[in-house]
Amino acid sequence: MGKQINVALIGNPNTGKTSVFNQLTGLNQKVGNYPGITVEKKEGICKLPRGLKAHILDLPGTYSLNASSVDENVVIELLLNKNDKDYPDVAVVVSDVENLKRNLLLFTQIKDLGIPTILAINMADRMDRKGISLDIKLLEERLKTRIALVSARKNMGIEELKELIINYRHMTVDPCVNASVIDPEYFGNLRKTFPNQSLYKLWLVITQDVNFGNINRGEINRSSDFNTKSVSDLKRLQQKETILRYQFINGVLKETMTVDKNAATDLRSRFDRILTHKVWGYVIFFGILLLIFQAIYSWSSYPMDMIDAAFASLSEWTKNTLPAGSFTNLISEGIVPGLGGIVIFIPQIAFLFFFISILEESGYMSRVVFLMDRIMRRFGLSGKSVVPLVSGTACAIPAVMATRNIENWKERLITILVVPFTTCSARLPVYLIIIALVIPNESFFGFNYQGLTLMILYLLGFGMAIFSSWLLNKILKTSSKSYFVIEMPNYKLPMAKNVAINVVEKTKSFVFGAGKIILAISVILWVLASYGPGDDFNNAKEIVTAQYENNENVEDESVEEAIASYKLKNSYIGIMGRGIEPAVAPLGYDWKIGIAIISSFAAREVFVGTLATIYSVGSDEEETIKNRMAAETNPVLGGPLFTFASGISLLLFYAFAMQCMSTLAIVKRETNTWKWPVLQLVIMTAFAYVVALIAFQVLK
Ligand code: GDP
Ligand code: MG
Repeated sequence: MGKQINVALIGNPNTGKTSVFNQLTGLNQKVGNYPGITVEKKEGICKLPRGLKAHILDLPGTYSLNASSVDENVVIELLLNKNDKDYPDVAVVVSDVENLKRNLLLFTQIKDLGIPTILAINMADRMDRKGISLDIKLLEERLKTRIALVSARKNMGIEELKELIINYRHMTVDPCVNASVIDPEYFGNLRKTFPNQSLYKLWLVITQDVNFGNINRGEINRSSDFNTKSVSDLKRLQQKETILRYQFINGVLKETMTVDKNAATDLRSRFDRILTHKVWGYVIFFGILLLIFQAIYSWSSYPMDMIDAAFASLSEWTKNTLPAGSFTNLISEGIVPGLGGIVIFIPQIAFLFFFISILEESGYMSRVVFLMDRIMRRFGLSGKSVVPLVSGTACAIPAVMATRNIENWKERLITILVVPFTTCSARLPVYLIIIALVIPNESFFGFNYQGLTLMILYLLGFGMAIFSSWLLNKILKTSSKSYFVIEMPNYKLPMAKNVAINVVEKTKSFVFGAGKIILAISVILWVLASYGPGDDFNNAKEIVTAQYENNENVEDESVEEAIASYKLKNSYIGIMGRGIEPAVAPLGYDWKIGIAIISSFAAREVFVGTLATIYSVGSDEEETIKNRMAAETNPVLGGPLFTFASGISLLLFYAFAMQCMSTLAIVKRETNTWKWPVLQLVIMTAFAYVVALIAFQVLK
């Protein structure tokens, strides 16, 4: 196999880069992150005719090579660094036939870098409707390039594009605009001092504030000739350059493009009037949120129950089939349930991304930004943060993943960091059982106290998310300027292929990205709960059986439960739980709750099941668990363990603590570093501890 051709897809946002990318690569794609930043990196392999292959990179959308965001820096840094392994042999600039003039600005800049540059004019299917006609031959001549007229939607022109990619060596790399005329003397000097460098690259190095692989910026600045330009002079020159490019583009388009003004106008403005309406806009948006919420909350519970049952019987089956022993236990009790704990999230992720892709694809998401941005921006969030925040009430995992379509990285990061405060459904079992224990089931003016408490907890979670966004917005420093340009793309029917690829890709990235971490932690937690040091653990069965020996009328089942309880108490987790008792006693908890808190790091709802094991009652008997909890006494203070004070303290602890390894795993995956998940874990847990402490000490 010969060398793959490196292709970079570049273009303004919404020109259809990803759609073209999907057509070229199908499912042969992988999505990762650029090192150290949260910008998404999509790459894939495209099979070309004659057994050739191309490596395709779908770059973030950019308006020009004058960087103003982290996303745009990625594009410039790649194009300036010949040593980068992704440095393109050929660039494909994807443009939208309806916005050709604006799109060509970027094209002429890239062309000037001396990289073979193909122009893909996308959305060709819209030309008839819009009355646009193009003289492609002449346009190719004027722009000194080769053009593929494509429609990613109709899968037209893709084969032609592939042919052009194969033949990239035959393309001229001459620039189409001579930028040096904006200041001939200055550029002349540059040329003389650095005869071996591309002039336009040098110009970018001087004017842009990004890292530049192999070009040494210090060297340029040291060379005294070039310190003469002040920053404002450079800015003025950049503006001159942009004007020069637009003059050129206008001239070219006048010759090559005609637009029939009488062509049918579309429904766009009529739609926009409703969808961004001061009242109806919000009503429709909240209707859509409700639908999404329904899908991830109740529809996905069916497949989730099935997955749950399937993994339970798989675990049972391995236990009965494999020879008994610790290896079998590891598989049936550690690994299989661990895998189940990953797969269980797939329905929610798939549903959420199904809807989000449709909203993005149809062009509606830009209207959401228009509606919500002004409100959300005050808290450092994006208009798009509403979707993750609302989905967070079902589960933080898909919600954190849903932040990926927020362009501004500071807004994206803040959303990721605050989402775990929203009340996810795993908190519900914990809330419900504790509320039932410590809040009277009475009404006050028709408001039931228990219901009221639950509502307050939801509001608390949401309020905390908003408050910490506001705080983070003040604290976090970032170089990315937040400017207020919202592009309003045309409404389009979503492309099924794009939606399907997006859903599959998001699911895959969860399973293989975060899944590893989830599996590892759940196996570790299982080992800690199933093994213990010393005789107490290893001889649990004998010890407990001996206690029951003289008691004739005890059922076998309760002996089993008593053994399980004794084992858990003396397992590593049990020892840890007893170890932290001094730390949690001021919060009103005992060591049993300590154990339950540690084990519920796997997932919050595990709290109830763990207590059931410790109290040696079957975990499916709610009433029994509740009665057992009510009968517990506080080892330090005496009296019942679950009082109003300790109950509220526990509720608040679960409201604020980062008690979820899967969330940590997905935050690691999405932010591409351990820094943020670890900060989240430490800060949220510390905060939860302090709040619970104060609550108990004040209320007791
Ligand atoms: P990107 O931001 O450049 O990656 O653009 P996308 O690939 O996400 O596409 C933006 C929008 O244009 C989506 O709604 C696509 O469905 C739509 N789109 C992409 N290609 C075509 C096309 O050839 N024709 C039409 N009519 N719409 C397209
Ligand atoms: Mg895209």
